[in-house]
Amino acid sequence: MKTDIQIAQEASMEPIQKVAAALGIEEEDLELYGKYKAKLSDELWEKVKDRPDGKLILVTAINPTPAGEGKTTTTVGLGEAFGRLGKKAVIALREPSLGPCFGIKGGAAGGGYAQVVPMEDLNLHFTGDFHAITSANNLLAALLDNHIQQGNALEIDTRQVVWKRCLDMNDRVLRNVVVGLGSKGDGVVREDHFVITVASEIMAVLCLSNDMEDLKRRLGRMIVAYTRAGKPVTAEELHATGAMAALLKDALKPNLIQTLEHTPALVHGGPFANIAHGCNSVRATKTALKLADYVVTEAGFGADLGAEKFFDIKCRKAGLKPDAVVLVATVRALKYNGGVPKDQLSGENLEALEKGIVNLEKHIENLQKYGVPVVVTLNSFITDTKAEIAFVEKFCKDRGCEFAISEVWEKGGEGGIALAEKVLDTLSAKESHFRVLYDDQQPLAAKIETIAKEIYGADGVVFSAAVSKELKHLTELGFGNLPVCMAKTQYSLSDDATLLGRPENFTVNVREVYISAGAGFVVAITGAIMTMPGLPKKPAADSIDVDESGKITGLF
Ligand code: ADP
Ligand code: MG
Repeated sequence: MKTDIQIAQEASMEPIQKVAAALGIEEEDLELYGKYKAKLSDELWEKVKDRPDGKLILVTAINPTPAGEGKTTTTVGLGEAFGRLGKKAVIALREPSLGPCFGIKGGAAGGGYAQVVPMEDLNLHFTGDFHAITSANNLLAALLDNHIQQGNALEIDTRQVVWKRCLDMNDRVLRNVVVGLGSKGDGVVREDHFVITVASEIMAVLCLSNDMEDLKRRLGRMIVAYTRAGKPVTAEELHATGAMAALLKDALKPNLIQTLEHTPALVHGGPFANIAHGCNSVRATKTALKLADYVVTEAGFGADLGAEKFFDIKCRKAGLKPDAVVLVATVRALKYNGGVPKDQLSGENLEALEKGIVNLEKHIENLQKYGVPVVVTLNSFITDTKAEIAFVEKFCKDRGCEFAISEVWEKGGEGGIALAEKVLDTLSAKESHFRVLYDDQQPLAAKIETIAKEIYGADGVVFSAAVSKELKHLTELGFGNLPVCMAKTQYSLSDDATLLGRPENFTVNVREVYISAGAGFVVAITGAIMTMPGLPKKPAADSIDVDESGKITGLF
């Protein structure tokens, strides 16, 4: 069996101009980054923005397990399958973060014969968007510390600085640091923190911005610290907006690459799926909808986090109306949810499947609450048995849900035709009546309770006294009508990572809330959420190399 990188390197890519031409994009509207990558110009958006939208299809999944689910793989393969059926389709994905590439082995460009290429570029520096975000983030941090050093006219309380520095690296020693050590001229000493670039609020801001004007408005609104009196201090008050926007000028433009079968893919932005909303940029999705009849996009983590935020944050704020959802499950992951250990997932086990399928059941019910037609797909592994597949198929049909097998990992677009046909049938037979889960006007605590009860299946939510106080404070500051961004473990529907399947009789504990004023959501943190990952004992970096000819090996 070939590795993902071997398959990717054997691909014959088309010049990106040719991929663009298939979408009717002329070369003058491309900003080329070498032969196989391009950014789409602002002028292109002006040309296409009044066209009707294509259909928007979200790919999401059951709760992630170590067995692997394959959302990106399915997204890419489904896009390719549409291409094979003669349909005009575009894929919209997140850009991968550099840090995890060197940590735990795991792809971010899809897998097998359903990948986007050039995968090495995409996984490493790509078009520099994340570097631009890192720079803008750290410019703001530098301006803030300089403001304090130069007399602190805004009366920033150095114990209430909330802006953190960032780096696109898994580097745990930077989680808690002290800056400003040295002499008087070396700055004011204070505790500081680093997050990984994808956790920077600027990443979420960039991904939710419609255009430069919107980007600047959001950047200016970001809260960097509080005064001793508790008043928020914004980036605008530090006069940081213009310079940050200048650094982000090109990062705001969507990137175009291709799949192994030359299907166009807009890969743009990559916010964390815990403290942020976890999907590609609004700019990329909106452009894709103007360029193609079918847009296939992915949301991070399982549907309880990824799809919920895609609907309740991204679609709500950007005015997007999804037409269908593809819910990815694997027989292996369902058996894992039924209690089978990771090393025993290959053998047929209908009993465990029946026990674990309740996880899929809850996600089906959840997605149906949004009024969007659901197609369940089994991302097939060579170990799946006929009886296991038949069991899942019947289970879905009994719940009014369409079902198709996907073999895109093994066969590329050809293996996605059954799924693509099922999605096309669903789009023509079932109308989407998309609705968000909660109203803007609901109090913040009620929004959190709605998500916890309706989506997670919790009995209720426990707010600590400090959290209740902060929710009141945020409401007084005028943030009460914003959506809520839940930061929760991705491994369980509950806030306890060890509770698999469909947990019941539990409460969700909110231990912290804070505002991302630029992004436009209130973050609610349950459990321990990591915003600066570390490296494992044997990092993937150990096996990565490049030869004399520039050929990279070991990247997954
Ligand atoms: P997600 O987007 O849900 O995180 P990916 O699509 O990135 O998942 O897939 C994760 C990993 O699992 C990739 O390395 C991919 O090659 C592998 N994978 C996905 N589908 C299959 C499959 N059907 N058989 C074997 N490996 C697969
Ligand atoms: Mg993915």
